[in-house]
Amino acid sequence: MSKAGTARAAVFSAPNRALDLETFPLPALGAGEVLVRVTACTLCGSDLHTFQGRRSTPTPTILGHEILGEVAELGPSAAPTDLAGDPLAVGERVTWTIGASCGTCFFCEHALPQKCERLSKYGHEAIRREYVFSGGLAEYCHLLRGTGVVCVPDRVPDTVACPANCATATVAAALRTGGDCGGEAVLVQGVGMLGLSACAMARVQGAREVIAVDVDAARLKLAARFGATRQVLLGDDEAALPNAVEDATSGRGVDLALELSGAASAMAAGGDLLRIGGRYVLVGAVFPGPPFLVSPERVIRRLLSIHGLHNYTPDDLVTAVQFLAHHHDDFPFAELVQSSFPLSDVNAAFDHAIASRELRVLVRP
Ligand SMILES: [Zn+2]
Ligand SMILES: [Zn+2]
Repeated sequence: MSKAGTARAAVFSAPNRALDLETFPLPALGAGEVLVRVTACTLCGSDLHTFQGRRSTPTPTILGHEILGEVAELGPSAAPTDLAGDPLAVGERVTWTIGASCGTCFFCEHALPQKCERLSKYGHEAIRREYVFSGGLAEYCHLLRGTGVVCVPDRVPDTVACPANCATATVAAALRTGGDCGGEAVLVQGVGMLGLSACAMARVQGAREVIAVDVDAARLKLAARFGATRQVLLGDDEAALPNAVEDATSGRGVDLALELSGAASAMAAGGDLLRIGGRYVLVGAVFPGPPFLVSPERVIRRLLSIHGLHNYTPDDLVTAVQFLAHHHDDFPFAELVQSSFPLSDVNAAFDHAIASRELRVLVRP
């Protein structure tokens, strides 16, 4: 427990170096701001990449963006509201958008708040004198104006709610971008946290077939429990995936494909598995990689739509939380977080997450 008016945070200062637990004064809130007591934070794949030096971030920083917390204090003047428009109250259980956007720049005005010119992203900001508590690996998180806050019903367990503002909301955005998949055949390339969520959400939206593809047999087994109707293990048999798609679609090709693996080989294969008029949403390749080769003639003659998707809008987070509230126990979401560590053992949490390859490891301040 920290002394009154201060709180602890795990500070990341360089890759492959232990995080240091440091104590900082709690902020004086500005208008529209919210102080949240962090109750749980899961380590996302991107946190692990940063920790291992495979992804750069300004330092020193407080990592962790898949955060669940309780409203501890509200800024002065007009009470901040949640995305439903209701005033927030102290004690409410909340999650929030991964970034705070300004609402007035070109991209905010063009329905791309996740690309705001003044975006501040939780778990991605350097510690500054005037803004310290920006990440989830701390006892408190300081929400800036322009953050979309969503109340999380008590029936959603902490372990299920934590990834909502990253994996689940991104999948909600990918499915929105791909268009209504009711009655359709959907290909899900890569069944990590996003892919498993995509299988479940596509099924709940009425997809007739969900074909899950991965190189990991254990994850494909899990995908079946998340609603995948067919599972294809990529390996020696190159015909396995085209055959599964042919079977599932009377040879037409899938209506919608979601690329969540980031593998260049998956993208090269995916374009050929779409039906005429099919849609492809690319989400996984968030690191520099080889070019995505697709024949323009094929795109034209087969009337293909290819979309890129990065992060999500506040409405997607609302969709994600509603989906989890109504359907999380139709699928084994609660099993995806297997280990939990106190904040004081945050370094053990990172080591365990990297060594075990568990989908998510939870840290509790
Ligand atoms: Zn994440
Ligand atoms: Zn903006």
